[in-house]
Amino acid sequence: MKQYDNISDADLEQAIAAAHDLYQQWRGEPATTRQATLHKIADLMRTEKTALATVVTHEMGKLISEAEAEVDLCADIADYFADNAPTFLKSTPLTTGIGDAYYQKQALGVLFMVEPWNFPYYQIMRVFAPNFMIGNPMLLKHASNTPSSAETFVDIVRRAGAPAASLTNLFASYGQVSQAIADPRVVGVALTGSERGGASVAKSAGENLKKSTLELGGNDPFIILEDADMAKVKAVAPSARLSNAGQICAASKRFIVMADKYDEFLAMLKEAFAAVKPGDPMDRATTLAPLSSADAKKTLQARVDAAVQAGAKVYYGNEPVELPGQFFQPTILTDISRDNPAYNQELFGPVASVYKVNSVAEAIALANDSSYGLGSVIFSEDREQADAVAQQLETGMTFINRAWATLPELPFGGVKNSGYGRELYELGFNAFVNEHLVVSA
Ligand code: NDP
Repeated sequence: MKQYDNISDADLEQAIAAAHDLYQQWRGEPATTRQATLHKIADLMRTEKTALATVVTHEMGKLISEAEAEVDLCADIADYFADNAPTFLKSTPLTTGIGDAYYQKQALGVLFMVEPWNFPYYQIMRVFAPNFMIGNPMLLKHASNTPSSAETFVDIVRRAGAPAASLTNLFASYGQVSQAIADPRVVGVALTGSERGGASVAKSAGENLKKSTLELGGNDPFIILEDADMAKVKAVAPSARLSNAGQICAASKRFIVMADKYDEFLAMLKEAFAAVKPGDPMDRATTLAPLSSADAKKTLQARVDAAVQAGAKVYYGNEPVELPGQFFQPTILTDISRDNPAYNQELFGPVASVYKVNSVAEAIALANDSSYGLGSVIFSEDREQADAVAQQLETGMTFINRAWATLPELPFGGVKNSGYGRELYELGFNAFVNEHLVVSA
């Protein structure tokens, strides 16, 4: 992997100053002047899809087809915000007895984003596209294991004709991230990553009275009720867990199954997990990629070992994969008791935890008995019941009779330790704006 040096404090100062200058310049220009550039970024991404995807696959190991899908999604996000920003930015009239009133969304200033390696482009695009249209220049600290992906994204932005300071990639230390957040010219920070990283960045933001948004981990329930259509479940459950080698915050991780469907579900999941083909992620015949790093595999193995030590049963998997690289065999764990460490732990890889329940109330209670609250999935042919269950789940997103999904027009985010704030859709657009009230008597 290519190595990059960390930046100096002087580089950081220069980047903040340039971003702040651009913010001042953008304040005098309507958002529509940036529309064509954002569309051009989308066009370049589509045209160069396979080359861009190859950078990601080489760097963090995901399947080339998944990396290409990520590039397509980024292009869709760019187009969505380019098209919708003018509507989102329309002033909103207010009714009051003291005169004519409206509020107008305006740029806030320079933002800092801290992003992870699992979707090296998508994670940047979720913050970049709306804020580029709003007029908030951005500084980026990407994960230390995806530096070339960060450089490649910035290169596309530049080649599309965006000003250099609209997105600056910084190989910054944690200390320099805190330093940047403390700088008066930086007005907010968006982080996607672990609870540890989120807490640290949010602490710096809090101490400096800066706004923050956090997209953290998840331990998402996939609830199968007694009237679930098992053919539909079969079509989505395995990939809901195994996509991106299981390294997705919003992937389904805890399968909560009504007793009369439990054996059938386990057998079905085992068959699907046994059918995957691990191998070179650049080979289009491969269906299971390696994990992103040796550390990622070590952490996952330690968590599975601890779960088994505490009484969990391995229904399938957890055997070494005889291939070079950080492969982890798809694994199914059952009999996870409440005092098992895996009960409330995110297993960031191809490991499914399966629980048996005897009532809808028990399914809801188990789903909610988690410190996380990102996404959830419900399978039931009774739409009314499924909606009622959805209303009782303490998660930011629920999908009924389909797998979880992320699209530009759907807000993405969670509650509890999964973080706060939303990305994508108009809610993501609104994360860092000044809702400027104007009242005239
Ligand atoms: P981290 O939180 O360690 O890394 C995410 C990003 O935050 C990286 O850029 C990292 O930099 C940076 N970072 C971490 N701590 C700090 C800090 N104190 N100050 C400034 N920047 C910081 O996550 P991991 O990569 O270790 O992933 C582990 C866990 O994170 C997973 O189990 C999962 O829960 C969660 N995760 C969630 C994702 C999501 O989409 N919500 C995506 C990926 C991970 P550096 O790489 O240099 O350490």
